[in-house]
Amino acid sequence: MGQGLSKGLYIRGKQCPKSLWLHKHRNELKDKVSGQQLAIFGAGTAVGELACNLFPGGVMIPYDGLSIQEQIALTKKSIEQGCDTIYEASFDHDGIFIKVDILHRNGEVWDLYEVKGSTKIKAVYKDDVALQLYVLNNNGLNISKVGLIHLDSGYTRSGDIEIDKLFSITDLTEIAKKKQDEVVNGVIELRNMLAEEMPETNIGSQCSEPYPCDFHGHCWQDVPKDSVFKLNGRGIDKFDYYHSGMQRMADLPLDKLNRTQRMQVEKHLNKGEHIDRDKITGFLDELWFPLVHLDFETFMAPVPLFDESRPYQQMPFQYSIHIQREKDGPIEHREYLAVPGSDPRPELIAGLLRDIPEDACVLTYYMTFENGRLSELARDFPAHADGLNNIIQHVRDLIIPFKKRWAYTWQQEGSSSIKKVLPAFVPDLSYKGMAIADGGMAMAAYHLMCAENDPKKLAEIRKNLLAYCHLDTEAMVRLLECL
Ligand code: SF4
Repeated sequence: MGQGLSKGLYIRGKQCPKSLWLHKHRNELKDKVSGQQLAIFGAGTAVGELACNLFPGGVMIPYDGLSIQEQIALTKKSIEQGCDTIYEASFDHDGIFIKVDILHRNGEVWDLYEVKGSTKIKAVYKDDVALQLYVLNNNGLNISKVGLIHLDSGYTRSGDIEIDKLFSITDLTEIAKKKQDEVVNGVIELRNMLAEEMPETNIGSQCSEPYPCDFHGHCWQDVPKDSVFKLNGRGIDKFDYYHSGMQRMADLPLDKLNRTQRMQVEKHLNKGEHIDRDKITGFLDELWFPLVHLDFETFMAPVPLFDESRPYQQMPFQYSIHIQREKDGPIEHREYLAVPGSDPRPELIAGLLRDIPEDACVLTYYMTFENGRLSELARDFPAHADGLNNIIQHVRDLIIPFKKRWAYTWQQEGSSSIKKVLPAFVPDLSYKGMAIADGGMAMAAYHLMCAENDPKKLAEIRKNLLAYCHLDTEAMVRLLECL
């Protein structure tokens, strides 16, 4: 028997052998796990527990408090005692330990189910179930079906969660069977690799796909700050250039780049800027007063928390609005932040319809996002569809001059994200030092707020959320002034 493996380690090794080697031999080089990642793991566990209700009345083989051998023994005993359903059923074969999310007896045979908190079937899931099938076959279990239980993106909550509608089951039996030789060879290769010196694997697309690698900090530490990876846009293979010795943007052949990439490299090299006054004037001429700057913050939940919402729907829970009613007039501020525990959308819609003048020009930064949320609100709350659709008609996008490079400065580093554009054009205003400094943190803060009972801590989270969203629209006001 070679090095011990598990489902997770097999998948890690398939993604990058070096990652598995480092995990086994130099674990201390791993990146720290962020609070956001922990929240994602937690959400995955909750989905797994909910999916067990598709096959109720089973026996759970716990991980905590039992050794691996005890988990395997308890699984064996449950099978012998005639259990029909076992959650987290535990097996090993040849040093490969697996836990099957749901093992369900189907007459004389068994069905294996893997649960994923995703709405899509990713290629990596097929390797996952193939390894499980391999171990179960070698434990003498006759497996008739390999199913992937995943969230159905089309499910809309109405009242209590309907488990059978929330989840879909995709049959991966044939795929898992076909992959059996690949599993056998894969396990041998990984074990041989682990017995040798660390493999010389170059950084590549595998560093982030299918999962972000937790040795990123270690492997990428020598990548220069102005590396080719800072180049924005597609069309060239940055890893190809990097590994052929063109590591910095300055090394890149300009004739191989598109217009915006060329501008990025040229402006980076001469620390310059590009302003197309005519195009900017044309953009500004299409705006009108009253002028509203609008920004939403949203949260997502794998299992919809409220009626008329779907798995992973972006649910707006906060907005900030800066309004200028006439040219050179004062700028007013309006905001809304939900109180956790109930659906934020009815109050948020009422606030939007009250705070945004009917004929206002509504400026957003990346209108695809705000319009997407407004359209969903109109769909889910049809009584307000007219008012919301009226707002959508009047939305204009402040990202355009920056994205189209009518206004570009080297400090943007090729990005048109407001987080990069703001400090480049308005150096006295920045997200640096904010307790909440991006949309992901705002989303995590909302979930934190829902779980928090301490009034002091709640007040602190609310203060930070309000400050962050306020800065988003204040940033838009200042950027517009710059144009
Ligand atoms: S960061 Fe990239 S190269 Fe390094 S171990 Fe991870 S996947 Fe492999």
